[in-house]
Amino acid sequence: MGNMYDTIIIGSGPAGLTAAIYASRGKLKTLVIAGSIPGGQLTLTTDVEDFPGFPEVIQGPELMMQMRKQAERLGAEFMDGDVVKADFSSKPFKVTSGSVLFLAKTIIIATGASAKWLGLPSEQRLIGKGVSACAVCDAAFFKEKTVAVVGGGDSALREALFLTKFAGEVNVIHRRDALRAFPALQDRATASPKIKFIWNKTVEEVLGKDKVEGVKIKDVKNAQVDEMKLDGLFIAIGHKPNTDFLKGQLDLDEKGYIKLIQNSKFKVQNDKDRGVYSQFKTMTSVEGVFAAGDVHDWRYQQAVTAAGVGCMAAMDVEELLEEEKAKEGKIKLASKVGS
Ligand code: NAP
Repeated sequence: MGNMYDTIIIGSGPAGLTAAIYASRGKLKTLVIAGSIPGGQLTLTTDVEDFPGFPEVIQGPELMMQMRKQAERLGAEFMDGDVVKADFSSKPFKVTSGSVLFLAKTIIIATGASAKWLGLPSEQRLIGKGVSACAVCDAAFFKEKTVAVVGGGDSALREALFLTKFAGEVNVIHRRDALRAFPALQDRATASPKIKFIWNKTVEEVLGKDKVEGVKIKDVKNAQVDEMKLDGLFIAIGHKPNTDFLKGQLDLDEKGYIKLIQNSKFKVQNDKDRGVYSQFKTMTSVEGVFAAGDVHDWRYQQAVTAAGVGCMAAMDVEELLEEEKAKEGKIKLASKVGS
């Protein structure tokens, strides 16, 4: 069984690569199916200032390349491509990428979540040049500047509030005249002297050749288009977890994020009888399938938190495999004694 692995890690952002570093260092035969954009969302970022260990900024793609080299040096194998099919109905688990079938004793899913974009060509062209989907990552580049956030949910107001630490003026551009964000966040945002709300407007175009210089906004009621000068534009209209290929295989929540053991059926059905599962914090609703990073964590969504949970997932895998080995040993011994 040439394609049989101790663990297959699906995804190669900070969660997947950290899991690969720990799993291969733990002498597990490890394959990373890296996705069609190897390196994940950080490869779309430029300066990274908040990943520990880099006193000067490091570029997102460079950080991901370093992590991958580290995992390769420790023995992880890589395949660049997407998983097109997963079958977790029985062990070994089956994963297909391209036309190749891989088998694994355990799986770590680290496929992340993609920021939703407005879909404007000008927005796509200026990502990393003033257009961002992460204020925590990029706000510090806009000291005393004028920025705008698009959206009216929790993310938009969290982004806007974070931006007030740096920017001089933060405009929240929303397509309606009412927010859907949590009331306490609305109170904090409306109380901020730096935040201004621009109601009933959609962004039609991002202006600027090599960096953001403004936006064209359209009034949804009278279709009037105006220009607004800006130094940065933050899109906060939600995220989509990359779990389409997992439907029917695992417990997902209503938004498609993977449920971990703490909130999956194991807790209800098995935690008491099979107390052992409670220690596997990263296990999903399928025994032996684990998840790490933004694919389950809609709250923090940071490279360093994803890396931390990637480490936990690899440690959970190691422990589960050890337990299975010990169980097999006991069964063999019992059958020898019995024979
Ligand atoms: P959200 O609540 O879906 O809000 C998205 C906002 O963006 C809305 O105000 C929406 O406008 C606006 N929007 C969407 N598409 C747009 C477009 N094309 N152009 C302009 N505006 C657009 O997303 P979020 O702010 O990221 O917050 C997610 C919420 O879900 C949070 O409360 C989070 O805590 C929660 N969450 C929970 C779970 C869970 O329980 N498992 C998982 C994930 C997230 P409209 O208001 O007009 O629709």
